Amino acid sequence: MNNREWRFGNTLSFSFDIKHAASDSLARVGTINTPHGPIQTPAFIPVGTKATVKSVLPEAMADLGAQALLSNAYHLYLQPGSDILDEAGGLGEFMNWPGPTFTDSGGFQVLSLGVGFKKVLAMDSQTFRRDDVIAGNKDRLAHVDDEGVTFKSHLDGSMHRFTPEVSMQVQHQIGADIMFAFDECTTLHNTRPYQELAMDRTYAWAIRCLDEHKRLTEERSTKPYQALFGVIQGAQYEDLRKKAATELGSLESSGQSFDGFGIGGALDKGQLGTIVSWVNEILPEDKPRHLLGIGAPEDLFLGVENGCDTFDCVLASRIARTSAVYTMEGRFNLSNSRFKRDFTPIDDECDCYTCTHYTRAYMHHVFRGKEIISATLATIHNERFIVRLVDQMRQALLDGNFADMKADFLGRYTHRSGQARD
Ligand SMILES: [Zn+2]
Repeated sequence: MNNREWRFGNTLSFSFDIKHAASDSLARVGTINTPHGPIQTPAFIPVGTKATVKSVLPEAMADLGAQALLSNAYHLYLQPGSDILDEAGGLGEFMNWPGPTFTDSGGFQVLSLGVGFKKVLAMDSQTFRRDDVIAGNKDRLAHVDDEGVTFKSHLDGSMHRFTPEVSMQVQHQIGADIMFAFDECTTLHNTRPYQELAMDRTYAWAIRCLDEHKRLTEERSTKPYQALFGVIQGAQYEDLRKKAATELGSLESSGQSFDGFGIGGALDKGQLGTIVSWVNEILPEDKPRHLLGIGAPEDLFLGVENGCDTFDCVLASRIARTSAVYTMEGRFNLSNSRFKRDFTPIDDECDCYTCTHYTRAYMHHVFRGKEIISATLATIHNERFIVRLVDQMRQALLDGNFADMKADFLGRYTHRSGQARD
């Protein structure tokens, strides 16, 4: 074992083993085995969008319990270029992370950055409904057609085109253990007819992704196997979500089916658990399910009890850089003057590096002074808080006391936040 493998250990291919399934919910405990090591599920996967968790060393991410990291194909394609990651030996090798990695397909990003819908997706379907949120505006930077998406780089204005085939080529070059099929991500503001159109497109693109994935896997047969997850869309509509789960769950093309599934798209916060259960009651039980862009504590409970195995969300690190931290008592801002003389840890129940070495008064000081270390220390705490919370859910499932653990946590924790992807 080389010294860059840390504690992860390698397995030859991709598989998913379920160790325990709850009798009173869809929750399960399992292990996803990847060529770069196992992931004990349920698990929270921290986000390192551009091949770095902003301000934190990969060794610190491993120390705080991160089992895998998720990066983004869209951002890495634009900069430095997926060919560079291929030459480097893949994403993990490039960023000095020996454990498992995921890449998001770029579908969400070409649409969200291209057309400028907010990074925090609206989680309320009761607001306005207009398709020009993603279509019809002459200033938008992305145009969707049946073949793919043409978009303008948010970095330099250059024009690019993603198709299902291009997304697969980019993700194979990046080399993550788990990739996602290229999908059209809609918002809660789109009309029902547009949601149907986007879903049909996502299905047609799923077949093309499987075909191209099969071809690339054979062409690059000396590389570790990369698993491909299909993405379930359908917004807040029960029939659309169920149709997508039925069709993609059983889809086979070129002798290849999806290795797992992502539940994506706009998720109405009030219906999160219900939407996820519609999908997970239908998807094949023996394949892992990832809930895209969800990481607020109260939402993670809903995801786990409704059968999701992994989660990612950029919120933990993004809010940390603005001095917002999670604690057992809820979320607050360390830059608030009430912490100036508070010599207690951020959260006295937290075992992270920051909480065991620093006080709220110190954190207040470095945030007020705009010291770079403020981002590092707050990110370590927030990522540890969320990773540990999901680890505790896994243990509670094994111990048969998930409902009590959830009631205890939510009885104390009071803050609701949105869905966020980079
Ligand atoms: Zn902490």
